[in-house]
Amino acid sequence: MKFLRFGNAGSERPGLLDKDGNIRDLSSHIDDLTGTALYPGALAKLAALDVDSLPIVSGNPRLGPCVAGTGKFMCIGLNYSDHAAETGASVPAEPILFMKATSAIVGPDDVVEIPRGSVATDWEVELGVVIGKPAKYVSEADALDFVAGYCVCNDISERDFQAKRSGQWTKGKSCDTFGPTGPWLVTKDEIPDPNNLAMWCDVNGHRYQDGSSRTMVFQIAFLVSYLSQLMTLHPGDIISTGTPPGVGLGQKPPVYLKPGDVMELGIEGLGSQRQEVVQG
Ligand code: ZN
Repeated sequence: MKFLRFGNAGSERPGLLDKDGNIRDLSSHIDDLTGTALYPGALAKLAALDVDSLPIVSGNPRLGPCVAGTGKFMCIGLNYSDHAAETGASVPAEPILFMKATSAIVGPDDVVEIPRGSVATDWEVELGVVIGKPAKYVSEADALDFVAGYCVCNDISERDFQAKRSGQWTKGKSCDTFGPTGPWLVTKDEIPDPNNLAMWCDVNGHRYQDGSSRTMVFQIAFLVSYLSQLMTLHPGDIISTGTPPGVGLGQKPPVYLKPGDVMELGIEGLGSQRQEVVQG
């Protein structure tokens, strides 16, 4: 099932995508896609509804981030061996974890702002894992039981803020609009093997990233288990699991975003995003 949120920023309503591509309104069944509504059992109940009984949403509404109430946006750095190589870094012995401020989260097709003072704003298509129920000290074998589903994330990154501003990567990862998320929360039953999905990112029609989640170093079940040893994961938390090669930093010479650019990115089975770039 593909769940989504539609409407103006801050007042989105929950919905799902039917087999014909229509948005169906779920707001008579749940308030929002957040908290306990993301428990796997709760999502299964929604998936069992008679879809034809749900009102079709007309027009072409804006899509919001595919889940609400994200408490933690956790990102894994250098989690693709081929991306680590293009940045000149070696594959880490344990997952590199950094946090992206949740205030960076926007819808999949919202504009992306280049922050003031930026000279190196970059793109990163990533597979996002959405947590479905509280996870603390879970084993790798049980880890996927705690996952609601998957989504596309663009881990937009300001490379100078990230690496040259005396501090943690968080500085270059948290600017407003740096976390487009969606279009859909795709439940696990639709994605039997999340570690074998094509992923891509085009900028102004040129394909820069053309990879696969197959080359992830630390795979999804491992990451959920690993993070749950460090902190409790809650429903709506997102783990963005790293990017394949082809980011702007890896070009020779590097290529960075400028106002007017358009990013189009997606992952097999999880849908696609499109963002226009503006000056912040
Ligand atoms: Zn990333």
